[in-house]
Amino acid sequence: MKLFECQHCGQLLYFENTRCERCGHVLGYLPDREILSALTSEGGGRWYPLAAPEEPFGFCANAAGSPLPTSPAARQTGSSPL
Ligand SMILES: [Zn+2]
Repeated sequence: MKLFECQHCGQLLYFENTRCERCGHVLGYLPDREILSALTSEGGGRWYPLAAPEEPFGFCANAAGSPLPTSPAARQTGSSPL
């Protein structure tokens, strides 16, 4: 199992973690860097990884437990249309 470290507090993190259990930072996976990074919110739905603050982070549509409001494209309601 691959382990990561919170860039904010050094807490040991698992790939399955969506939030740092110590400092509460939301976590996101950066596939191009193959690291899990703590994210800081700049508002407006924009997130910046502490590991790469120059690269705005966007949650992918299938990210489970996404803290962001789902966009219309990503929304998957189970309700039937009227
Ligand atoms: Zn942390």
